[in-house]
Amino acid sequence: MFREMRRNRQILPQEIVDAVLRRGTSGVLALSGDDGYPYAVPISYVYDGKAIYFHCARAGHKLDAIRRCGKASFCVVDQDEIVPEEFTTYFRSVLAFGRMHEVTEDAEKHQAMEALCEKYAPNETKDSRDKAIEREWAPLCVLRSDIDHITGKRCH
Ligand SMILES: Cc1cc2nc3c(=O)[nH]c(=O)nc-3n(C[C@H](O)[C@H](O)[C@H](O)COP(=O)(O)OP(=O)(O)OC[C@H]3O[C@@H](n4cnc5c(N)ncnc54)[C@H](O)[C@@H]3O)c2cc1C
Repeated sequence: MFREMRRNRQILPQEIVDAVLRRGTSGVLALSGDDGYPYAVPISYVYDGKAIYFHCARAGHKLDAIRRCGKASFCVVDQDEIVPEEFTTYFRSVLAFGRMHEVTEDAEKHQAMEALCEKYAPNETKDSRDKAIEREWAPLCVLRSDIDHITGKRCH
């Protein structure tokens, strides 16, 4: 059911798709929102090579949408270089379709939070990262997107 890219010369190889997801610092998570309006919300994430993890509060539009329908897509833009003389943009982006799950198991939740902290606060000590996780633990929700289909596309 997932579509082929029409301009297949622009398809990114899998290793670049992986690299983009690993170095990206945020993306836009697209969900089925209220009253038929898609809800596309920017969010930080970490990718472990198989799944994408997010963290958020335990309530809100995003969670209500996921609870109604777990299907989502997540887009990360890696390059956005405007080339005025060519009336175009040189871009590189990745789009992952997947199913969102609230992580309920403490071990997986902790592992995801450690990975997020390592990605976003690499210069903090492990002790300080662990303390931050502990501080935020109670009101924290961790989400996992199990990827069903992933593509990368480039222009130049
Ligand atoms: C670069 C970046 C990284 C972020 N990383 C995280 C993260 O890791 N975890 C996290 O939980 N949140 C993150 N946020 C904030 C995120 O975009 C949402 O605001 C937040 O998750 C709350 O979502 P919600 O649906 O629960 O909000 P709600 O307050 O329930 O949303 C209600 C309404 O507020 C509006 N709204 C919500 N978020 C935004 C927004 N970002 N911009 C404009 N309008 C908005 C929408 O109209 C929405 O329908 C990040 C934002 C940015 C820009």
